[in-house]
Amino acid sequence: MKREGLILILSAPSGAGKTSLCRELFKSFPDMKESVSYTTRLPRAGEIEGEAYHFVSHEVFEKMVEEDAFAEWALVHGNMYGTALHTLEEARKNGIDIVLDIDCQGALKLKEQFEGGIYVFIMPPSMTELRRRLENRSSDAQEVIERRIVRAADEMREARWYDYIIINDDFEVASRELSAIVIAYRRKTFRMMEKVGKLFDM
Ligand code: 5GP
Repeated sequence: MKREGLILILSAPSGAGKTSLCRELFKSFPDMKESVSYTTRLPRAGEIEGEAYHFVSHEVFEKMVEEDAFAEWALVHGNMYGTALHTLEEARKNGIDIVLDIDCQGALKLKEQFEGGIYVFIMPPSMTELRRRLENRSSDAQEVIERRIVRAADEMREARWYDYIIINDDFEVASRELSAIVIAYRRKTFRMMEKVGKLFDM
């Protein structure tokens, strides 16, 4: 029987470095796929439909909610975001390891409904450093930064129910730790038996 794909769920407060860690993860594991969420948020400059997100209207999103098309969805920073059930089912069925970059509310909904995901929470080393990183990004207005910091404090409390916590102080270290989690999972016996069976005819 073909093995099922891994579902890796990553959450982090804005500014913790999740996007960069994700990028590095895909470099190390090019066979992993990023789950493309649906959102009602407008595309930012350079974001391509179907790559960053599936950008949809409120009407389309609400219709998908009514039709139970989402494995999870949440309201984040005033916009709706959701992971389609079919995205997870296809990846699982085809043995593809998929990465979900979703907020804590969505991650909790998934954890309550699905077995087998790996939940990783990425943290900044301190609130001071988080503020410094958000201010250095300079793309956001001061009031947006303040809102993100308040929200980050709440999100940090959610870390307790995740399977793993990575503190992103030194990027190289954090990146290695994330890779280690993926490698450890990939070496679990049930993941190895298909290969072992072929190698040793057992
Ligand atoms: P952004 O708009 O900056 O791309 O994402 C804002 C937040 O929405 C991030 O924290 C991201 O993790 C979260 N997010 C993105 N896609 C999904 C999704 O499908 N479900 C949930 N629950 N959150 C999402």
